[in-house]
Amino acid sequence: MIIDAHTHIFPDDVRKNREAFAERDPGFAAIYKEPKARMASAEELVSSMDAVGVERSVICGFSWNEPGLCALHNQYLLESAAKHSRRFIVFLSLPLTNPDWSARELDRGLKGGAKGVGEIGFYRHEMTSQDVEAMKPFLTLLEEKGLPLLLHTNETLGHPYPGKGRTRLEQFYEIILAFPRLRILLAHWGGGLPFYELMPEVAKAMTQVYYDTAASPFLFSKKIYTVVSQLVGPEKILFGSDFPLISPRRYLQELEGSGLVAEDQKKILGLNIARILNL
Ligand SMILES: [Zn+2]
Repeated sequence: MIIDAHTHIFPDDVRKNREAFAERDPGFAAIYKEPKARMASAEELVSSMDAVGVERSVICGFSWNEPGLCALHNQYLLESAAKHSRRFIVFLSLPLTNPDWSARELDRGLKGGAKGVGEIGFYRHEMTSQDVEAMKPFLTLLEEKGLPLLLHTNETLGHPYPGKGRTRLEQFYEIILAFPRLRILLAHWGGGLPFYELMPEVAKAMTQVYYDTAASPFLFSKKIYTVVSQLVGPEKILFGSDFPLISPRRYLQELEGSGLVAEDQKKILGLNIARILNL
């Protein structure tokens, strides 16, 4: 069974009025202000999944700065999951530096069937140690509840693009060290963090850390599938497309030509995320 561990869908209101939402949220504006930045509906995602043979998808919203916008988006995700039974797995958008509100919204989301939190990203400014401190009460709660957190990470070198954050990898490592039992899914191959798992103490600290492939065809050579498999093991890699940014088809083609054995490909394509989410 193929499970896409990283997609985004948006409510009609946001898709039709992107300028208004861009004015309310500078992080959203940084990525989605231009009409060429695609936003998909739940129905478009289902069509794409059917065309490519993806059984289920983790659906994410956006890292809005206002609680009200997170609530609006979460409502759409929960309703979409209810409408398309067994196709979607909801990850909630929460303002993690507002732990009290986030805890209440998490409670509401879990009752509606949500299975995790994310994708959380710091797109406008880099994540600082103060942000990490502010997030700690909520991350403690997530760790206690055994829920996974999908965090946006990116490589800090190379070409610029909308949504490329400037947070140093050290900040993510700070979170990882502070929450050793929290299952952290790092988007976009962890921005290069897998390399550091060659250091024994880093590997030991990152036993609950996973890496997704989101946006890989835009960023890395397809050699990355075998290279990261050697670095951290195929058990820690999750197929995520970042749909509608790139069609899942591109990843399936790259993976097929990667030279990884079928068993490892199956882990990446669904078995790993199924285990994380107890599906
Ligand atoms: Zn991302």
